[in-house]
Amino acid sequence: MKKMKKISIIMLAALTAFSMAAFSACGSSVMHSADSSSAEPSTVARTDDGGYSCDVFAMDTTMNIKAYGGSKAKQAVADAAQKIYELDSELSVVRKTSSVYKLNNRETDTVDGSTADVLSESLRLAGATGGAFDPTIYPIVRAWGFTTGKYKVPSDSEIAELLTHVGYDKVSIDTGADGVAKVTFSDDKTELDTGAIGKGYASQVIHDLFRDEGIDSAIATLGGNVMTVGSKQDGSSWTVAVEDPKNTDDYAGYITLNDEFAVTSGGYQRYFDQNGKRYIHIMDPSTGHPVDNDLSSVTIISKSGTEADALSTALYVMGLKKAEDFWRTSDMDFGIILIDTDGKKYVSEDIADRFSVDSGSFETIKKQA
Ligand code: ADP
Ligand code: MG
Repeated sequence: MKKMKKISIIMLAALTAFSMAAFSACGSSVMHSADSSSAEPSTVARTDDGGYSCDVFAMDTTMNIKAYGGSKAKQAVADAAQKIYELDSELSVVRKTSSVYKLNNRETDTVDGSTADVLSESLRLAGATGGAFDPTIYPIVRAWGFTTGKYKVPSDSEIAELLTHVGYDKVSIDTGADGVAKVTFSDDKTELDTGAIGKGYASQVIHDLFRDEGIDSAIATLGGNVMTVGSKQDGSSWTVAVEDPKNTDDYAGYITLNDEFAVTSGGYQRYFDQNGKRYIHIMDPSTGHPVDNDLSSVTIISKSGTEADALSTALYVMGLKKAEDFWRTSDMDFGIILIDTDGKKYVSEDIADRFSVDSGSFETIKKQA
């Protein structure tokens, strides 16, 4: 069914591109950029259904945050927006003032707070996925032009050289009792990128912030990352649409969520075409090339926003069979929705009864293959 028809009956569509003429910060004195000249006045808008909502542009994507529960919801939405802007300015790989930029340029070797947290989680999840998710992939990402906008196909020799600096085992992080972490690189040219985990981490942070502020009904989309707090106000679950990777005007299916996260990684989201070939923004750390396998999207359903984001990227890199096996054997608790390049859908049995399609069918992935 077409998006325009659906939009009124579902609460929100994951991955919907919001077309907004201008983005306004939420919160009374929020600066949404390290460059304060681009900061804008705040607006947290009242929604038709009695909630409070705010659009945010951060982490290179459009976001929307919505919460219910009277004036405290209004404040919580403003606080969540502020938190996202703060995380963006800490984690950006391109802003010269960010903690990650300073680490990459060896201007500092200590980080604290959220940056320390994200980096420790990144290294843990890199290990857990056998390096399919690897936060040291940045030199490769940049060589292909992602983050700089200067898209190109690097030479084999350039890729081979850059790959010698890639590997999560080249970074260690040692967090002291005071929360300050020392970051050590064993290779002088190794650089970090939180692009595949930052939005998920941010969604987890605002989830916890909402809970702390007494909110029990909220929903947010941070690019392809959806966060839900509790249920809808009437007590029913949230319904989130999974975009059809082949036709982004359409939905591949719907999943209900209750205090959970749904994160999608897809090759159709960011890419460039050259000489008839498509190059996507998700890299295979084992080859230094954009992923080109049998998957076209991976959606992870989890109680952890951080894990959901890192795993969506990792399972996309793995391809269909390895992704299924990873789900079967992992000790992390999550569900998966995989769509292959033929449009075939595969849903893990733990979430299959919450997944629905407008037409056609899907295959259920069983724990015992
Ligand atoms: P999106 O950010 O579009 O939601 P992902 O979460 O899959 O998608 O993250 C992709 C981003 O992460 C890329 O733009 C790049 O910065 C970085 N990246 C690409 N490949 C990998 C990888 N294998 N491991 C970790 N980070 C990656
Ligand atoms: Mg990700």
